[in-house]
This record gives sequence, C-alpha cells and structure tokens, in this order.
Amino acid sequence: MLSSRLYSPTLREIPADAVVVSHQYMLKAGMMRKVASGFYAFLPLAFRSIQKVENIIRQEMAKVGSQEMLMPIVQPAELWRDTGRWDVFGPEMFKLQDRHGHEYCLGPTHEELITAITHMDTSSYKQLPVSLFQIQNKYRDEKRPRFGLMRSREFIMKDAYTFDEDEAGLDKQYQLMYDAYTKIFTRCGLTFKAVIADTGAIGGSGSHEFEVLADAGEADIVYGTECDFAANIEAVIPNTLYSDITNDREKELVATPGKHTIEMVCDYLNISIKQSIKAVVYKLDEVVVLALVRGDHEVNEVRLQNIYNAVNVSMASDEDLIACGLTAGYISPINLTGSEKFDIIVDKTVMEMKDACCGGNVVDKHYVHVNPKRDFGDVRVDTIRLITKEDVCPVGGGPIEMRKGIEVGQVFKLGTKYSEQLGCTFLDKNGKSQPMVMGCYGIGVTRTVAASIEQNHDEHGIIWPINIAPYEVVIIPANTKDEEIMNAAQELYEALNDENDEVVLDDRKDRAGVKFKDADLIGYPVRITIGKKWKESGTVEIKVRRSGEVIEIPFVGCEAKVVTILNELREKNL
Ligand code: ATP
Ligand code: MG
Repeated sequence: MLSSRLYSPTLREIPADAVVVSHQYMLKAGMMRKVASGFYAFLPLAFRSIQKVENIIRQEMAKVGSQEMLMPIVQPAELWRDTGRWDVFGPEMFKLQDRHGHEYCLGPTHEELITAITHMDTSSYKQLPVSLFQIQNKYRDEKRPRFGLMRSREFIMKDAYTFDEDEAGLDKQYQLMYDAYTKIFTRCGLTFKAVIADTGAIGGSGSHEFEVLADAGEADIVYGTECDFAANIEAVIPNTLYSDITNDREKELVATPGKHTIEMVCDYLNISIKQSIKAVVYKLDEVVVLALVRGDHEVNEVRLQNIYNAVNVSMASDEDLIACGLTAGYISPINLTGSEKFDIIVDKTVMEMKDACCGGNVVDKHYVHVNPKRDFGDVRVDTIRLITKEDVCPVGGGPIEMRKGIEVGQVFKLGTKYSEQLGCTFLDKNGKSQPMVMGCYGIGVTRTVAASIEQNHDEHGIIWPINIAPYEVVIIPANTKDEEIMNAAQELYEALNDENDEVVLDDRKDRAGVKFKDADLIGYPVRITIGKKWKESGTVEIKVRRSGEVIEIPFVGCEAKVVTILNELREKNL
C-alpha cells in the first residue's frame, strides 16, 4: 500500500467526547469515524485490524470443530416472547415493525434464533453435538454508549453455540471453547484473565469472562495473588467479617442535625466509617428493598438481583420512599421490621457488628451503640456486599488484588433453559425425547481491537501487537525529492511486500518528521527509514515500535533481517 493512496485521514484535534485512549487514537489515526452516538464507520486501517482478529477467531474455532454460518440480523419478536427476553432486554433492544405490523428486533445476541434453527433439522442423538458460530453486527441500545468501540450500539460479535446430549458433552465443549479463547486472546497480544462470571440474567450453570487488564475497563475483577482464583467482583461472595468489639451499652438515639450522609454523620459523631451502617434503598422489579451494608462497603447489585430473582434493578425513587414511609438519609431497620410495603435485607458482616451507628428513622436522628443481632429484629440476612481490597481470597484465604478489566469475551453453560422454552428436543439412545444441552460463547471483536489499544500505546500513538496490526511494516524514504532514495525505497517495498499487502511505502511529499509522527500514531510494528545514511554508507535504519530498538544495517540483504524481526514478534505474540 502506498501512503498517498491509504485512506486514513488523520486528525490534529481530538473530539471532546473521546475520553479513553483507544477512542482518541482511532479517531486521530483516521481509523474510524462517528456516524451517530455509538455507531461508527470503520475506515481501512480499523477494518484490517478487525479482519485480523476475525481470522484468528476463525482459525481457532475451526480447531475446536465449530463451523461458521450466518444468521439474519433481523429476528421475529415471537421467539423472544417465547423466552421472555423481549421484556428482559427492554429498551436495550432495537425494535422495529414491517409494513404489515409484524414486530422484529435487531439481534442483540442470537440464542433464540440458533435454538429455533437447530431445532428445525436436528432430532436425533446421532446428530449431536452441533457447534456453530457466526461473526456479525450486533445491536444494543446501550443506556450510555461511550468509549468508542468499547461500548457502542452497533458492534461486531463472534457468537458460537453448542448443542449436546448431556451435561458431560457440554462440559467438554465448554472446555474446548475456553481453551480456544485463551489462544485467541494470546494471539491478539493481550494480557488478560479468565474470571468467574455471574450467570444471573441469561441463566445457566457456569460462566467465565475474559477480561483484558486495563484501567479503562468497566468491570472490576479480583484475583488471588497466591492461588488461581479470579472473578468478576459481581460474582464473588466475600467472607463475613467478625468484630472483636464488645458492647453492653443499650442503643441510644442521638441528634445529628442536617447530617444525612454517612460521611457527615461519622464526622459529626467522631466515629470511624467502619462503625456505621448504611441503608441503600432499591426497587427490584416491583419490590422496594432496604439493603444494609457497613458504611465503607458497597452493595453487590447483581447479587441482590439474583437473591430476589429480579429482572430490573434501580434505586428507589423519592416517591417510593414516601409511599413506604421511609425517611431518606436516616433509614435503618430499627422499629421498621414487619412492614408489608418493603423488604429488609442485611449483609452478614453488618450482623456481626457490635457497636454501630445507623439511621434513627426520623429526620436529624441516628442510633449509636447498636448491636444489629440484638436490635434489628427479624430481618433477612445474606452476603450482599462487594468484596474490597481489604478482604482475603474467599476460596484460599490468601491475599488478593483488584484490577479493572475490559470484558472481551464470555463463555456460558446455558444448560436446557432455551431448549426447553423453545422445544428444541432430540431423541436419545433410548428413544426418549430430551431437551438439548446448550452452551453459548461470545467475543466482542470490535471491543477486542479497542482493548488492544488500551493496553498497547504510548504518548505518541498505538503500539499494535503484530498479529492484529493493520499493516506490519512502513518504509519511509526520508527525502521524496531524491530520486535515488525513492528508487531504493521502491525496490525494498517490492521485495518485502507480497499478496497480503502488509507493507506500506510512505511516498507522500511530506517532511520526514511528519511521516515519523504518523508512523508512531498508526503504530506500524516495524519502521524502515532510507535516508542520508543510505547515501553515505549504504545503510538503512530499522526501528521496532514496541521496544524502541533501532538497528542500522546495510541496505543490501536487509529484507532478511526484517523478516526475522517480524517472525520473532509473531512467535512471542508481541
Ligand atoms: P457488558 O457487560 O460489557 O455490557 P455483556 O456481558 O452484556 O457486556 P455479552 O452479552 O456477554 O456482553 O456479549 C459478548 C461480548 O460482546 C462481550 O464479551 C463484549 O466483548 C461484547 N460487547 C457486548 N456489548 C458491547 C457493546 N455495547 N459494545 C462493544 N462490544 C460489546
Ligand atoms: Mg458478558
């Protein structure tokens, strides 16, 4: 490819709404353009990277016997109504009607459709297992589309589905997919962790997310530093913390005028935040729930949702609080139990506190010297808090670390949830009708490209891992006016480039400085400069973007060295 022909319109200014590095650099390097909030056009550089990720996926899917197919994006509403997910997805689903008034959606995922399709032609155990995948645009009307390709409303997903006779078959498929995902993300040059994930909304018996470790991630992950435990914090039930404080004083109602936040109260009463109990009021579907956790802890909303088997979780509104007779800012379970209007759930760690402070259920008053076991009455108790840095590993008891993660993939043991709902059955060896046992496995292709940039960049631009770099090599003739230099550059370009077109010749009339800048921004893994030194002593400069290593070697025979460097990078997935 010649730079003069390459459609990569670079930008000087970064649009203000681009706040993460991948979004900024992809716009700046002319890789993509925004069409509407959460909708992007992929220009050639981005599209080449995307296609490379897709091809790695295709190769690894083939190795585990999954076959590529393609389903329609538009899906009939009836299928989604049969599984109840028309409502579960709710406003996140793009819904449409045809001219006859029939309802459809743009696929946010394809469990329903693949189950219906497999059911059409698979009826005997002899035909199982089935393993199919597709790579296609998905549509989700995200509440907050942001961070460019990390959370867009249209994105490319690889989605695979397996159908087996029994759980043992599913376990085998799951492991194959898990291993394939490990290979895929390794080949993409990513530093990632497979973590235990919550299976709440989609249902099923087991799941892992593949999380790229990066500060821009929206997921919180925790892992043991001395064991192999790793999980999304939503899926973790932390140990209960016990207090060695003794307290034989009775609870006492004290004045806390105008102190309606935990911080204000603790400050005013001069007590540690760890001695306070906070109430967070949720609406879980139609139920108002008072969730109580220690002042410095946060409620695990996913856990709460699972406990209450709720589809929707939101904060209770002021109207909800008034309807329940609750005093915002001063809520606690004391004297409130037994109400029909709301439910109370208390975190186990709170129940172990002995001398705590909590709301007085009247304005400007709080209780002190509270012992929840003694003073809370009959409440529901469960672990509803999120794990924190101060906790230990809930499995091994060892130290933990917490990081931000970008979820690039997820694997799921679905079991028979969808096959039962949609009647996807087969006749087993004994002629008995059974629901197929399913698994589903997704990779966010476009999010993977963005995640790679989040993890691989510096202040000058992108540092692509070789296997997903749009182009592998750029050749920069330092002076385009010099015919000899241009001829040498052209000669090297022809020698290095092949039908894969991995080499770019920067034939633009710009100054060398401009070209170096663009080369760093676009992130070509290897840069070859032909300039003054070539004229003086016949040498060229080879620079490796990732290591910054620069070598000067004779022009004659330099292709071999370039090939060696590229092979080394490929071998190490760098
Ligand atoms: P998230 O929790 O980030 O919203 P999800 O768990 O809803 O994602 P899945 O249904 O598991 O997503 O979809 C499979 C993969 O598709 C995800 O692992 C992620 O990589 C990708 N993905 C999901 N939503 C988006 C989005 N809005 N933009 C880009 N990629 C996405
Ligand atoms: Mg997911």
